[in-house]
Amino acid sequence: MNAEESSPLPNAEDPTLPSDDLSDAQLAEAKEYNRRELFCDLADRGLDLAYLSGMAFVLAKPIDTWLESLPGLSTLSARLAVMYVIVTVAHAMVSFPLSLYSGHILEHQFQMSRQTFGAWLRRYLKRNGLTVAFGLALTQGLYWMIWLCGPNWWIVAAAGYFVLSIVLGQLTPVLILPLFYKIERLEDETLADRFSRLSEGTGLSIEGVYRMQMSDETVKANAMLAGLGKTRRVIMGDTLLEGFSPEEIEVIFAHEVGHHVHHHIRKLILTGLIYSTAGFYLCDRMLAWWVGSVQGHVDYAELPVYTLPFLTLVMTIFSMFVQPLQNGMSRYFEVQSDTYALTSTGLKDAYRSAFTKLAKLNKADPNPHPLEVFLFHSHPPIADRLALADRV
Ligand SMILES: [Zn+2]
Repeated sequence: MNAEESSPLPNAEDPTLPSDDLSDAQLAEAKEYNRRELFCDLADRGLDLAYLSGMAFVLAKPIDTWLESLPGLSTLSARLAVMYVIVTVAHAMVSFPLSLYSGHILEHQFQMSRQTFGAWLRRYLKRNGLTVAFGLALTQGLYWMIWLCGPNWWIVAAAGYFVLSIVLGQLTPVLILPLFYKIERLEDETLADRFSRLSEGTGLSIEGVYRMQMSDETVKANAMLAGLGKTRRVIMGDTLLEGFSPEEIEVIFAHEVGHHVHHHIRKLILTGLIYSTAGFYLCDRMLAWWVGSVQGHVDYAELPVYTLPFLTLVMTIFSMFVQPLQNGMSRYFEVQSDTYALTSTGLKDAYRSAFTKLAKLNKADPNPHPLEVFLFHSHPPIADRLALADRV
């Protein structure tokens, strides 16, 4: 899936950009909003590392010993389930103040959210409840692989991850997104004509254009290509469909068609296979080292349950290191799709105004620091995206 989450504001100093529709106050506000978002993100990562380290190196073993003494928890599998729930629920509780600030308070301070506190809390509980249920099944599956396959478990796990990403790729638009948003087929004759022209010969059926009701909770605009095979479709936020001109919508639709034409979802799944193989291998080596140092030997068939927070910590650190690589590839894909949008529509002015509008709506940073872009941004800065229109 490739989501158009946010596009930074254009640079007011740059004469090639339409600076007249951005006041200094708006620019300063966007800067401040993004500074705080970045701070929340960094604080969240720091908190994750501190919490998981504490769990892994201090608390996990005593908790496991205590669980072993409880009736009904004699099997590894039962203890793993309880350990998972304890670790995950305690983690959510430790992170709750930060989640509340970044997900609700900050969004209201900058007039980005339309949700009441109750609506936000319901959604937070729903999302975390689903994460716990899904994570519990995944954790059980992973440990069963370790217990049954021994030292080669990481190969089986990488294969399992690959299959799961294909299944999830198919189910996301039809099963997962509708749990959170109302999604319906787009009924708009004029847009349908434009879309069918643009998707001609690309293998993307125009049956697959959907409207996602986002306006209940946010003012932000968003569009995405989602799904695999028969579930492949373009989903556009109602915030985007209502606030943008038909030409601007056409350009954004063409951008999503660009993701389809360049097979970006397939490429993301394939590189995911490489990353997950490397990640699971690293987990295996670290587990062998950690369990070996705690109890002198490693018995895969009886791998203890106290290793769960340690395993999660290794995965978290690994994904932090891998993220800049994934973001770099994503930004490259965005340039490919932007180029496709420009060449297939020829609507340069609509392209410029669409991205300027997106940037304003989403209050994105005009000049993010290059290091910030390198580390955290999955989309190129808006100034780069606008400048592309002059080169293509
Ligand atoms: Zn995109």
